[in-house]
Amino acid sequence: MNHETAVASARDLADRVLAPAARQNDKEAGFSSEAVTALGSAGLLGIMLPAETGGAGLGPRTFAAVVSTLAETDASVAMVYLMHVCAAATIATARNGAVVAPTLKEISAGRHLSTLAFSETGSRSHFWAPVSRARRNAAGVHITAKKSFVTSAGQAHSYVVSALAPEGSGPTDSTLYLIARGTSGLSVAGPWDGLGLRANASAPMTLEDCTVAPESQLTEDGAGFQAMLQVVLPLFNLGSAAVALGICRAAVAGTATHLKTARFEHIGQSLGESLPTLRAQIATMQIDTDGLAARIDDLIDHLERPRDTTVLRVLEAKAAAGEVAIAVTSAAMRACGGAAFAKHMNIERLFRDAHAGAVMAPTGDVLREFIGKAVLGMPLF
Ligand SMILES: Cc1cc2nc3c(=O)[nH]c(=O)nc-3n(C[C@H](O)[C@H](O)[C@H](O)COP(=O)(O)OP(=O)(O)OC[C@H]3O[C@@H](n4cnc5c(N)ncnc54)[C@H](O)[C@@H]3O)c2cc1C
Repeated sequence: MNHETAVASARDLADRVLAPAARQNDKEAGFSSEAVTALGSAGLLGIMLPAETGGAGLGPRTFAAVVSTLAETDASVAMVYLMHVCAAATIATARNGAVVAPTLKEISAGRHLSTLAFSETGSRSHFWAPVSRARRNAAGVHITAKKSFVTSAGQAHSYVVSALAPEGSGPTDSTLYLIARGTSGLSVAGPWDGLGLRANASAPMTLEDCTVAPESQLTEDGAGFQAMLQVVLPLFNLGSAAVALGICRAAVAGTATHLKTARFEHIGQSLGESLPTLRAQIATMQIDTDGLAARIDDLIDHLERPRDTTVLRVLEAKAAAGEVAIAVTSAAMRACGGAAFAKHMNIERLFRDAHAGAVMAPTGDVLREFIGKAVLGMPLF
């Protein structure tokens, strides 16, 4: 698989599998197992895993293009995929001593979906500071935790879980563990009935004295925080921006179709032909969408060739993307008028889905706090 074939596969499965089901899954908050199966069959679940484990060994450029392509059709599936790729990257960079090869092989073979279970009820969006603490005895580690939102909850085959290290002394001295579906004590703690991204099963989960064997400890004790920042954050922020881009592109396309096809019969013109204000609104949407695409390209370049400004770009991309997605889909709601409001078209789903990015951690507000501190030369934590 190369960049072109990966993106073509994503486009193909978006058209074949995602498009026919997206509206109904959104309505029913139904998780698309068919989409996960199709992603696996297309070889996309192991997109960034190294060739030695059967993965495609592709980089952030292809990952972002696949995510944005999926999000154009169904942002819920794109978010499921994004969380999986972040989890897979964390598993792939596990410490010596962790036994992860079988899981990586299953992911590469397209048979294993993973996800991140970081956010906790106690520390909310401050995912870098779990309040749960692992306890260690002769059998291994035991974790009791309340995870507030877990994408693919109950659907994923494994969960990358954070908890404070047994002997950790500070609030960020966390460790990451791999916990398999079906582990005793691991359960979905409630339904997922969100405003947007309704079809990604982002339900709360509870860990009640879950036993984790030593070989499933992904990071050294206390090294979870570095893995979150160095492995997860760049990919998650890039992927979130790509989800936002897909949503924006779909909003522009949906609005353009509406402005070309909806007509004032008494004037004999389409909305777009008739109203300069609507042409100005779609122009602004297009400018913002292309601006976001350029920002994502710039971030990819910074990830491919790391330099002093890379961390800042990682932080900026997600903060900016969250706002752009909300602005573009809000403009689409207005430009498409009552037709969008009455749910005749998919614009209102895009509008709802667009609002998740800014509140998913690191939230837009937290990112601004970090960016401000970075610009002023202050420590981020
Ligand atoms: C659809 C969806 C899917 C999710 N999937 C996952 C997942 O798979 N795994 C996972 O671990 N988590 C997941 N989350 C959780 C997510 O990452 C956040 O932790 C969660 O949305 C935070 O919500 P909260 O109510 O706890 O926010 P709060 O922490 O209560 O924040 C409330 C407000 O305060 C602001 N705020 C907080 N701290 C600061 C600060 N220091 N400076 C300025 N403003 C601040 C926030 O920006 C926000 O506006 C998901 C969330 C959603 C909505």
